[in-house]
Amino acid sequence: MNLFADRLVGKVALITGAASGIGECTAKLFAKHGATIVIADIQDELGQAVCDAIGSSNSIYVHCDVTKEEDVKNAIDTAITTYGKLDIMFNNAGIIDSNKPHIFDNEKADFERVLSVNVIGVFLGMKHAARVMVPVKTGSIISTASVASNIGGISTHAYRSAKHAVVGLTKNLAVELGQFGIRVNCLSPHGIATPFSTKKFKLEAGANVEEVVENVIHLTGNLKGVKLKTDDIANAALFLASDEAKYISGQNLFIDGGFSIVNPSLNNFNPTSLL
Ligand code: NAD
Repeated sequence: MNLFADRLVGKVALITGAASGIGECTAKLFAKHGATIVIADIQDELGQAVCDAIGSSNSIYVHCDVTKEEDVKNAIDTAITTYGKLDIMFNNAGIIDSNKPHIFDNEKADFERVLSVNVIGVFLGMKHAARVMVPVKTGSIISTASVASNIGGISTHAYRSAKHAVVGLTKNLAVELGQFGIRVNCLSPHGIATPFSTKKFKLEAGANVEEVVENVIHLTGNLKGVKLKTDDIANAALFLASDEAKYISGQNLFIDGGFSIVNPSLNNFNPTSLL
């Protein structure tokens, strides 16, 4: 096996939110490693373009709104009817609402919309993936959480609640599906420049919004000298999807350069220097 090219040979993966950002990057990386991909999203043109870039012999695009059970069921059934099985389910589609200064400024409808995509969508992906994985007693289910699954104050109430729920679902399902040899994990990235984050920035014309977002993340991050890219999340997903992670289940893997373990009250002061 070539560790740099053949880590998912013969596997079938379904990725939600694969028309853009992390999902798109992961779809292309999985395909490079020999997997066949079902690209599921609501942005049909972009999703089809990802499929075209990968090649029609080993990818297919399916319109799938993860908040709708019939869409999720159809996407998973398409994987089975087209490719005969589903080895990897990546519940990655996600949205965020706009930040409001106070909880009393938040609308119930916005809260419900975020939970509908980020929690119900993950639940439905897990449910229908498990439906086809349990009978064959194998599979890897991965979901995208966030550093907001651990750190407070860096996102909205709805988003933080949702990403906590992704970790809760991951742990509960890992316990349930262990008896069937199915692994369930999630990923928690720090901020990355994708449409998810860049569209929130209002900059003057001509500014490179990706660069601005990356610089902000780098400035406030713990690990210096490197910038977080979608490739880094795709590589973590590749690891969890591959047989190299065959005994890893129930984990929330942080891809944040240590951001979520730093106590901000230390503020660059190292108390051990006094010891
Ligand atoms: P993105 O906006 O580039 O991609 C998200 C994709 O999800 C889009 O293609 C969108 O069409 C799709 N989507 C949205 N609603 C959907 C629905 N109802 N059904 C199906 N697809 C839907 O953003 P991204 O940064 O690649 O986000 C991917 C995941 O990563 C999300 O779960 C997000 O919460 C998480 N995340 C992002 C960041 C970041 O800073 N970008 C950080 C941590 C976690």
